[in-house]
Amino acid sequence: MTKKEKAKRLEAVIDRLETLYPESECALNYKGDPWKLLVMGRLSAQCTDARVNIVSEELFSRFPTAYDMAEGDLSEIEEIIKPCGLYRMKADNIKAASQMLIDRFSGVLPSEMEQLLKLPGVGRKIANLLLGDVYGKGAIVCDTHCIRICGRLGMYPETLRDPYKIEMILRSLMDIEKGSDFCHRIVNFGREICLARGPKCDVCPLSDLCSHKKGERE
Ligand code: SF4
Repeated sequence: MTKKEKAKRLEAVIDRLETLYPESECALNYKGDPWKLLVMGRLSAQCTDARVNIVSEELFSRFPTAYDMAEGDLSEIEEIIKPCGLYRMKADNIKAASQMLIDRFSGVLPSEMEQLLKLPGVGRKIANLLLGDVYGKGAIVCDTHCIRICGRLGMYPETLRDPYKIEMILRSLMDIEKGSDFCHRIVNFGREICLARGPKCDVCPLSDLCSHKKGERE
């Protein structure tokens, strides 16, 4: 496919997903608090959103603000977030990021990618999530669903797994203002239809737009 054809296909995919999932909501229940989304985004690495939502209830009842987390006892934070996996590094990151948020950004989440990337544990995936959800900016959250499905749809080879390259490709193919909502919807689509193993191609509303289904190869 030419770049123009890919962009056209992606536009059609975006339209259909809008119809399929009129609500575009973040799966992390951060209750409108940007700092909580920062913490939950970090906890979600190699963990399900459902588990992060459960664990976060206890975490935020014990440490309700960035100030509390920054001053919190590391071993207590570790103990609470243990079910999310990688708990030592994650606890260290969320405590240090909370401290930096206070020290360098007066407790206010930065609105620029470059500044967000300075926060411990924050990579482009979390930074994009924050920019899209908190600031309504154009963003591409390259999570496992986005990477898998956009490859199957023919936007790049299915074997490509590099999130940075994929983010740049998708940015070049779509109206980036629609990126954040698209990524939330693709998570729903990935959980319900285009599963990692055993995608439900026979009932898929995107099958006529899908390279995987049609056997197209780059
Ligand atoms: S046709 Fe199959 S592989 Fe393609 S998007 Fe639908 S479920 Fe995924």
